[in-house]
Amino acid sequence: MVAQPPVSTDSFWMPFTANRQYKAEPRMLVAAEGMWYQRHDGTRILDGTAGLWCTNAGHGRAAITRAVSEQIHTMDYAPPFQMGHPPAFELAQRLVGHTPEGLNQVFFTNSGSESADTALKIALAYQRARGQHQRTRLIGRDKGYHGVGFGGISVGGMGNNRRAFPVQLPGVDHLPHTLLPEAAFSRGMPEQGAHLADALEDILALHGPENVAAVMVEPMAGSGGVIIPPRGYLQRLREITLKHDILLIFDEVITGFGRVGEAFAANRLGVTPDMITAAKGLTNGAIPMGAVFVSDTIHEAFMQGPEEAIELFHGYTYSGHPVAAAAGLASLDIYEQEDLFQRALELEAYWEDALHSLRDLPNVKDIRNMGLVGAVELEADDKPGARGYRVYRHCFWESNALVRCSVDTIALSPPLIISQDEIDQLVAALKKSILAAA
Ligand code: PMP
Repeated sequence: MVAQPPVSTDSFWMPFTANRQYKAEPRMLVAAEGMWYQRHDGTRILDGTAGLWCTNAGHGRAAITRAVSEQIHTMDYAPPFQMGHPPAFELAQRLVGHTPEGLNQVFFTNSGSESADTALKIALAYQRARGQHQRTRLIGRDKGYHGVGFGGISVGGMGNNRRAFPVQLPGVDHLPHTLLPEAAFSRGMPEQGAHLADALEDILALHGPENVAAVMVEPMAGSGGVIIPPRGYLQRLREITLKHDILLIFDEVITGFGRVGEAFAANRLGVTPDMITAAKGLTNGAIPMGAVFVSDTIHEAFMQGPEEAIELFHGYTYSGHPVAAAAGLASLDIYEQEDLFQRALELEAYWEDALHSLRDLPNVKDIRNMGLVGAVELEADDKPGARGYRVYRHCFWESNALVRCSVDTIALSPPLIISQDEIDQLVAALKKSILAAA
């Protein structure tokens, strides 16, 4: 019998949650340290998801606590319009030391959704700024997730996130996703599927490439079920977009800050987009913050008018918030000092072997991995998502591990500080739950 939660669950309308189901069986986390959460009944839960792909340096990092507390003490808030403060400038400067070459400008937001909509708006405004007013069309990808703003749900490819909201951006097309049955159980990047990038040429032929502003994809799709890019696929997208002078935006809200073994997937894959969106690991999840990394070329196009003119009519009250920026700086210190991005790369082979050891369990349909991301896709039973949820729930209550389920795919993305022993524990916990509940 699980202890009653310490608070009433009546009034908080929880996001992306089956609220009635949750309230019948509340799952509460009350503390966190390192690789571990603590459940409200005191049980320790191994964090297999870095919260929600956020806490790449693990929980409760004292340096972040200190930096946040000192910054609130020094200056809690400052307006970001026509006014600046050192932490935001310092963070921007530090961040562009990690981005691919040529992406040296940072626009701060508060979330991944805001980063996605900001990048799309910058893309449209850039096309106008350089006189290409007709370039208004946007292209996303099936199963893509770019947050929940109107731009993000329109360019994203998740039907469930669009269905109840019939007003969306016009002029959006979607590439096919790259999850191919013949690539099941690929280790790392699948060999099959690069040709799917050529669908971009078909879309462009339909509308005229001169009418397209930007293509936005996650280099590795996370929420859509952990879809690892086929070898050569993103290179091909880059070639086609360059050929037609169309912007390429990588949504790296999940893949940023070491998740796939380098600062960004763009670095790891050797493909440089025109913009990268980020959030989550930017502050190790401690304070909400997002960012868009913008190429010098795009930025320069906005810097041509009269000096007293505002170049971009866009921004947020909390853009570059000093407390968030302090958390970002402290997170970067940890990532750099502990070489955590490199650590993710070095652990990749061990992680891959551990995950693929689950291959012969009942109802396992596919296993996918890259960096410190993993996915175990289960066969759907009569009701899609039911098996995934059973395993997720069993993991939480019986195996004491936090995993994520996206329909019938169990996704794993532990903090990058995870040890080999903890990888074994996490995989053993998932195995136990697949055997018991799948
Ligand atoms: N883009 C991607 C790729 C994401 O994974 C997410 C969040 N999971 C978002 C955007 C939206 O981020 P947020 O929830 O911070 O708005």
